[in-house]
Amino acid sequence: MECRPTHTPDDVDIPALREKYRAEREKRLNSQGQKQYFRPKSGPLAEQMGDPHTPVTPREPLSEEIDVAVLGGGFTGILAAVQLRKAGVTNVRNIEHGGDFGGVWYWNRYPGIQCDNESYCYLPLLEETGFIPTKRFSDGTEIQAHCVRIARQFDLYERALFHTQVRALRWDESIKRWHVATDRGDEIRARFVIMAGGPLNRPKLPGIPGLQSFGGRVFHTARWDYGYTGGSWENPVLDKLGDKRVAVVGTGATAIQIVPYLAKYAKELYVLQRTPPSVDARPNPPTDPEWVKTLQSGWQKQRQENFHHGAMEGFRPGEPDLVCDFWTEINRNVAAKLAAQGWPEVTPEALMGMREIEDYHVMERFRRRIDEIVEDKATAELLKPWFRFHCKRPLSSDTYYPSFNRSNVHLIDVSDTKGVEALTASGFVHKGEEYPIDLLICASGFEVTSDLDLRWGIDEITGRNGLSLYEEWADGYKTLHGVVSRGFPNQFFTGYIQGGLYATTVEQFNRQGYHIAYIISEALKRGIKALEPTAEAQADWVQTMAPSTEFAKYLQSECPPGYLNNESGKFRYYLGEFYLAGFTAFEQLLQQWRDQGSLEGLDIDK
Ligand code: NDP
Repeated sequence: MECRPTHTPDDVDIPALREKYRAEREKRLNSQGQKQYFRPKSGPLAEQMGDPHTPVTPREPLSEEIDVAVLGGGFTGILAAVQLRKAGVTNVRNIEHGGDFGGVWYWNRYPGIQCDNESYCYLPLLEETGFIPTKRFSDGTEIQAHCVRIARQFDLYERALFHTQVRALRWDESIKRWHVATDRGDEIRARFVIMAGGPLNRPKLPGIPGLQSFGGRVFHTARWDYGYTGGSWENPVLDKLGDKRVAVVGTGATAIQIVPYLAKYAKELYVLQRTPPSVDARPNPPTDPEWVKTLQSGWQKQRQENFHHGAMEGFRPGEPDLVCDFWTEINRNVAAKLAAQGWPEVTPEALMGMREIEDYHVMERFRRRIDEIVEDKATAELLKPWFRFHCKRPLSSDTYYPSFNRSNVHLIDVSDTKGVEALTASGFVHKGEEYPIDLLICASGFEVTSDLDLRWGIDEITGRNGLSLYEEWADGYKTLHGVVSRGFPNQFFTGYIQGGLYATTVEQFNRQGYHIAYIISEALKRGIKALEPTAEAQADWVQTMAPSTEFAKYLQSECPPGYLNNESGKFRYYLGEFYLAGFTAFEQLLQQWRDQGSLEGLDIDK
């Protein structure tokens, strides 16, 4: 089916919308920033962060030397290990705190869990594994099974350490290796370490006054308790909630997937909303076998490139929109306007201006959609998002808004108090009134842009001469190409750290794995014991990043608080500090660097 531009409402008053967006943002600014969240170190709330899915098996501590320790067994860690294997490096261990491969897809088993980017782009290595997702947005079970499939195909199980949390990394100059200390008493001496923890690794709880004294059940969505709710990951029939009053904190990507299930099964459901999300329709058809027959070698990479243009860089003249959903809508509509003018030369500023106008129109379409679905006018009004498209992750669901037409579902707007006011022993407090509840579900997100020690859960990372990574990066990242940092030999970084930003996250991590695997395999081949960037190369790269903070400033000054802008706090660990010329240009730069073959910009210690 041909993908067409959408008809977005253009009868909007943009200056008035700008003012409205500003006011809604101001209302939510919270001087507490990241400190508003609660990270229990002990007690029942800390214990519920353990693994509910797999029993922990006792094992003897290891003492050994290996080539590479990959810290993580989610997609980032799996793909780093796969790329190493392809590059001929096999003395590798994945160290993972969960009980199996999968990372976020291992831990998160809440009802309704699905990928919210198209699975044909999102699931990696489809061509190499021969797997085709069964529908457009895969269920969590299918995605975790794909993680297992890849790990099996590339023999990652044999050397994986599960239920193992790295506690400290210490560089030992005398042996030119990292000491990797774990909570299982292991003492692993690794020549190289790859930080592959992923961005959604550690859940955080809302810092609601009284949370610890609430006497009912509490859990985070990443630790769903089917024993309490009834049902299972594979069959989320929450039949034990029929007599339960349930409250959900949060209305992000996770919450909108669970709310329809809770609405269906709970006696009463309170949705405690601080910032309304933008939620579009979500057609999720099964995969068409006829379409699969048409796929030719290289199809996935081509689709990902196309999606990247649609979601980020903009379509090229004549380029079709293969994914054709709300992620690509702004650029699709802008491309249609440019095509109608015969693709004139436009300056980057003019292009940004066109996108901005379309952004206001698309967001207005989102808001009007709510009026069409939600029957109660006051509730519909409260559900409307007042911000630019990229301020919060745009979402899709066909069942979220209709949930608010049920008589047992109550939307509670907690924006005036910048979050849930308080909890008592038996319920939550809103505007001075207590609402009794049995279960509090925290859909409150993860440590995405918090301080690094919170994100990684590693107490100590000490490089050469006792240099602490946390201290060295206290004012911001310092890397070459986002993968290596001076003072921390043989340590490699992944994620959103001074690299390219790609629309398909998992593929971005895959490409990082490829680049890292190249460097490690070359080092091993050439007998290099240690490498790190030169001071000059690193300073140049950090300088290259400087203009990209312009985008951070936009998120910082115009968007409501959230993880994308570090709760509107200082953006030293801003998620989007990336190579401004775009991912394609970044990839070319790295390819040229590899082709040169001299490991330019690295200090080499043989
Ligand atoms: P988010 O960080 O997106 O959302 C957290 C929610 O909790 C927000 O609505 C936040 O409100 C709210 N909140 C936090 N503290 C309080 C408080 N004290 N009182 C009231 N509300 C509070 O977490 P999610 O788990 O929803 O999603 C995290 C990310 O995980 C997504 O953005 C996405 O990248 C990923 N994800 C991906 C999925 C996929 O299919 N690929 C599925 C699910 C998640 P506020 O907005 O006001 O801060």
